[in-house]
Amino acid sequence: MNRERLANGLTQMGVAFDQTAMERFEAFHAILDEYNARMDLTAVLDEDERVDRHDLDSAAPLAQGLLVPSAKVIDVGTGAGFPGMPLLILRPDLEMTFLDALQKRIGFLTDALSRLGLKATTLHARAEDAARMEAHREQYDAAVSRAVASAAVLAELTLPFVKTGGAAIAWKGPGVQDELTAAKRAAFVLGGAVRGVYPAPIPGRDDWQHMLLVTDKTGKTPKPYPRKAGTPSKKPLA
Ligand code: SAM
Repeated sequence: MNRERLANGLTQMGVAFDQTAMERFEAFHAILDEYNARMDLTAVLDEDERVDRHDLDSAAPLAQGLLVPSAKVIDVGTGAGFPGMPLLILRPDLEMTFLDALQKRIGFLTDALSRLGLKATTLHARAEDAARMEAHREQYDAAVSRAVASAAVLAELTLPFVKTGGAAIAWKGPGVQDELTAAKRAAFVLGGAVRGVYPAPIPGRDDWQHMLLVTDKTGKTPKPYPRKAGTPSKKPLA
């Protein structure tokens, strides 16, 4: 791993880190390589791109102060642990749950967490099913999600997990502006309200226009939502 690139990037973003975090990033990259050699876990990127696209990009909400101390956070559709793992490495005070519908990814994350000495919950489930479980429905300060679905679909996959006063944070590109009308309508149905779009620049990558779409949870999600697994993406709310 290119430690200097990661350290410089985090510093430019105004995100604090310590030596333990750097060691854990390095170990996490090594575990990813080990798994990627035997299964198709995530796209293989060169070292610099991995730092930028995965680690720095995942840290964006910390640059904006969007996660309060000890926040309870769920990463919906975490895949190989993004954005949840970099967030937890940088902020071990977070109470993190990693959720994915694919068992092999959850198996990888459970092993990685134990080898990194990090405490978190891993959950193999569809978001639509987990959000109906008492242990997870409206239990989180924040639901984070990257590269899982369109904003309107994501609203149904994430807002039911968030308690009133919390927020859903979605990683998006410049196209988010075209998704906003639908996202606002879906949020309204689900007990939320779009707060706005925060720019999430990656140092040295001026051509990447990454954004965070933040939706506040303003009230309870009505019981019929989320609809059954698969329906949110087949028939988006908006
Ligand atoms: N968030 C990771 C990232 O940015 O690298 C992974 C993105 S990957 C393109 C999408 C992930 O979302 C996959 O791992 C998939 O299994 C998961 N996923 C998609 N729909 C889901 C759902 N309804 N419930 C749970 N996981 C879901």
